[in-house]
Amino acid sequence: MSLLLGCIADDFTGATDLASMLVKHGMTTVQVIGVPNGALPEADAVVIALKSRTIPAGDAVAQSLAAAEALLAAGARQLLFKYCSTFDSTDEGNIGPVADALLKRLGAGFALACPAFPANGRSIYQGHLFAGSHLLSESGMENHPLTPMRDPNLVRVLGRQTEGSVGLVPFAVVERGAGAIRDAMTRLAEGGRRYGIIDAVTDAHLLAIGEAAAKHPLITGGSGIAMGLPANFRAAGLLPERPDAAVLPAPQGMCAVVAGSCSRATLGQIGFARDHVPVLELDALALPDAAALAAQALEWVQGKLSADRPVVIAASAPPDKVAALQARLGRDAAGVLVEDAMAAVAAGLVARGVGRLVVAGGETSGAVVSRLGVQQLRIGAEIDPGVPWTFAAPTGIHLALKSGNFGGRDFFLKAFEHG
Ligand code: ADP
Repeated sequence: MSLLLGCIADDFTGATDLASMLVKHGMTTVQVIGVPNGALPEADAVVIALKSRTIPAGDAVAQSLAAAEALLAAGARQLLFKYCSTFDSTDEGNIGPVADALLKRLGAGFALACPAFPANGRSIYQGHLFAGSHLLSESGMENHPLTPMRDPNLVRVLGRQTEGSVGLVPFAVVERGAGAIRDAMTRLAEGGRRYGIIDAVTDAHLLAIGEAAAKHPLITGGSGIAMGLPANFRAAGLLPERPDAAVLPAPQGMCAVVAGSCSRATLGQIGFARDHVPVLELDALALPDAAALAAQALEWVQGKLSADRPVVIAASAPPDKVAALQARLGRDAAGVLVEDAMAAVAAGLVARGVGRLVVAGGETSGAVVSRLGVQQLRIGAEIDPGVPWTFAAPTGIHLALKSGNFGGRDFFLKAFEHG
């Protein structure tokens, strides 16, 4: 099996989202954490997860180029640069500078840019990005602390980030299908445009755009743009049908959930779990000491672990309690304290035989993955949209990393019904 699609994602949960999309459409996929220093794993697609969304543009370019080298050395036939479906960036970057550098590395003159993801309410019409029924600039994203998006017109937004010029393939063309889109992109490239923003309102549009870009060395967009790509490799005879793309090694060991997210969804999931399985809610305000919190959790768990149903250990708290801890310690120190505690709990659980672990919270997941020394995640089937089970190397356990707002109320139980 040789690598077909090489992906570079500018954040961790976005990488998982993309990898999950590729698995769903029949490619075996491994997510690699950070620029790899050794050989890449065997898979149809590899997604290298960087944390390059809001770092200085020069660093994002350097890391993305290093990731591209690793993917190309492994034989990748096409590169995909994945960014957020709300096009999170500033006038300094990092989408434009990274895409410019990748195009140059590939000796290519044109790439499409399409962050649309209709299933999550992100659509593009006449170059304008919508989140649900709101223009991006009126969606709340205009107040984002790091990447405020105050201009919904992606032709302009990307235009400010690149030395090249940006054109548009409008809805009316996209509606006519892959051939029309391909011709329009060729005309943009021949007219000297470096990028084409492509309108997309439905999955059918994304599939057609993917088909039209079969021969492009570089594709840029959100995870939605990936849905049409596996079919290109199949049509070229490079990708066999893979009904088992999502199959992971059989799960083993005890089941546990570690929650550090304080989102409304996670608090609801903890509440639901309380009626069904053992739940420990740590009180970081009463005991603001990471090691002591972890010790308390690991003592509590004795005799409670099971291979059939999870235990849930949560530091999560409602907004007033979070605010109280932040007032006492400062916002960053409060976050780090709880992340350290949950990472130590996760490591302690694995040492006690936990082989199937759900982690709730993006930052919390980052802390756990780093404490466990995880370097790669083979992506399996989704539990709920956007949250797949994964098999972690070199630790050899099953991990599900849930970004705070994801998952239904029964997520913590449902995760372990999947086997
Ligand atoms: P989400 O995906 O919901 O944003 P994250 O894990 O990314 O979740 O962020 C939640 C943050 O809140 C983490 O830094 C975590 O350590 C912190 N946190 C969790 N519980 C508490 C608490 N009781 N008080 C203060 N901060 C907390």
